[in-house]
Amino acid sequence: MYWPESCNRQAPVKKPIEKCSRCSDPIESHDIVVPFDNGDVIHVRCWGVGETEKRCRESRTIIQKSQKLIDESGRKLREINVPASVAPK
Ligand SMILES: [Zn+2]
Repeated sequence: MYWPESCNRQAPVKKPIEKCSRCSDPIESHDIVVPFDNGDVIHVRCWGVGETEKRCRESRTIIQKSQKLIDESGRKLREINVPASVAPK
């Protein structure tokens, strides 16, 4: 995990190490996360699991919709967390 000086304003590296509220694994700088208003942060993959489980009882259509939302938010967060200049090979 490294960030060039020029990316400092968006780099999460200076934050204290956070833990995922769902799986308790540490949040790495390259992880895609979902921040909540109460300060909790979870991996987007953990958020996806929870959402899917909940909605599974409701309807398949909603699952597909939320899956799409997860994909879209994941893509946005990935752009923030991994600028092209430091993207892993
Ligand atoms: Zn997690």
